Amino acid sequence: MKQPDRGRKRLALVGGGHTHVQVLRSFGTRPVDDAELTVVIPSPLAIYSGMVSGFVADRYAAEELAIDVEALARRARARVVMTSALAIDTNRHRIMVEGREAVPYDLASVNIGSTVAGLGTPGAREHAIPSRPISGLVEEIDRLVDRARDSARQRGFRVVVVGGGAGGVELAFCVEHRLRREGCTSLDVLLVNDGSRLLAGYPPSLAERVEEHSRRRAVTIRNGRRVVAVEPDVVRFADGASTAQDAVIWVTGAASHPLFRDSGLPVDDRGFALTRPTLQVEGHEELFAVGDCATLREHPDTPKAGVYAVRQGPILSHNLRALLAGHPLQAYIPQRDFLTLLNLGDGTAVGTKWGLSFEGRWVMELKDRIDRRFMARFRITS
Ligand SMILES: Cc1cc2nc3c(=O)[nH]c(=O)nc-3n(C[C@H](O)[C@H](O)[C@H](O)COP(=O)(O)OP(=O)(O)OC[C@H]3O[C@@H](n4cnc5c(N)ncnc54)[C@H](O)[C@@H]3O)c2cc1C
Repeated sequence: MKQPDRGRKRLALVGGGHTHVQVLRSFGTRPVDDAELTVVIPSPLAIYSGMVSGFVADRYAAEELAIDVEALARRARARVVMTSALAIDTNRHRIMVEGREAVPYDLASVNIGSTVAGLGTPGAREHAIPSRPISGLVEEIDRLVDRARDSARQRGFRVVVVGGGAGGVELAFCVEHRLRREGCTSLDVLLVNDGSRLLAGYPPSLAERVEEHSRRRAVTIRNGRRVVAVEPDVVRFADGASTAQDAVIWVTGAASHPLFRDSGLPVDDRGFALTRPTLQVEGHEELFAVGDCATLREHPDTPKAGVYAVRQGPILSHNLRALLAGHPLQAYIPQRDFLTLLNLGDGTAVGTKWGLSFEGRWVMELKDRIDRRFMARFRITS
C-alpha cells in the first residue's frame, strides 16, 4: 500500500449523505492539494430522499434517485473504503470500520444520517418495512408491489403506514397510487399517527388539505393511535384495538446511529452528536458531524430533514478547506422555515411555506424541478 505523505493532512469523510456529496463535488472541481482524502461508505450509491416518494409512486426509476458517491470520490482523487464506520477513536485519531483496517485521520467529518425510531416495538423489526436506510426501503417497495399484485386478485390488500409526519403522509399516498396503478382495486391504506393531528409542526391547513385528499383516495387516517405490536398479519394499538395488515411501513421519525455514543463523544439525549455552529463536534476541533446525525447545540430543535443537510454542504466544504489552510471557519445558521412539498403520488403535491399552504399539479411540477436540478449536480458524464 502507498505510504501517506506525512507533509499532507489526512482528511476522512465518513458516509455519503446529502452534505458529503457536495463536499466531494467541490473537491472534485477544486482539489485540495495539501490533503489526502479517504471516503468511508457502505455502498457505492447513496439515495436522494427527496425523490423516494416519487420512486414509490412509479414516477422515477431507482437509478434516478441514486447518487454515485464512489464516482464522485474517485473524481476527487479520494481513496474509497467500502464498509461501515463503527466508532471513532479520537485519542488515536482513527476511524474503526467493519472488517477492514482502521482509517487514520487528522481531520474527519461524519454524515451517516439516522435510523428509524420505535423499531424496538415488539414485532416491528421482524414484520414492518423500515423507512431507513432509504436504500433498504427502495429495495422493499418492489417486493411489496409484487405481493400486492398477487394477493389483491384474491382478496384485496391492506397497507398500514405507521407515522403521521411528512414521510408517512408521502409514503401512504404514493403507495396507494402505485398499488392502484398495478391493478389493486380492493385496496386500503391506513395511515396511523400517535399524535392528535397529522403533520405536527406544520400549519394545520396543510394537514387539512391532506385529510381532504384522503377522502377521495383509498387512504384512511387515524390520529391518536399508538402501535404497540406488529404481528405477521395484525397491528395492535395501545387502546386494545387491532387491524389486519398485509404490509406495514414504519416511518416514525429519526433515531441516532450508535456510533457517537459508542465513541464516548458528546451527544444530545437522543444520541445525536452535539455540534457547534461551525459544524465541529463539541470539544473536537478536528471532527465535524453534519446532517441528521448531528444536533446543533444552538438550534437543538432543527428538524432532521434533508434540506438542512443540503444547506450545510457549502459551509462544510468551506470549513474543511479553511481548517486545512488555517483560515477562519464559517458558522452555519439553519433557516427558520423551509419550503415543504409533499408528493401525493397522483401527479399532485401539497406544500407549505411561511405558514401558507397550497396544492396542485404545479406544486408537484415545482418539486420535480427542484429535485431534478439537485440531482443533475452530481451526474458524472465522463
Ligand atoms: C421516506 C422519506 C422521505 C423523505 N423525504 C424528504 C424530503 O422530501 N425532504 C427532506 O428534506 N427530507 C426528507 N426526508 C428526510 C431525509 O431523508 C433525511 O433528513 C436526510 O436523508 C438526511 O440526510 P443526511 O445527509 O444526514 O443522511 P443520509 O442522506 O441518510 O445519508 C447517510 C449516508 O451515510 C451512509 N452510512 C450510514 N451509516 C454509515 C456508517 N456507519 N458508515 C459509513 N456510512 C454510513 C448511508 O449509507 C447513507 O448513504 C425523508 C425521509 C424519509 C424516510
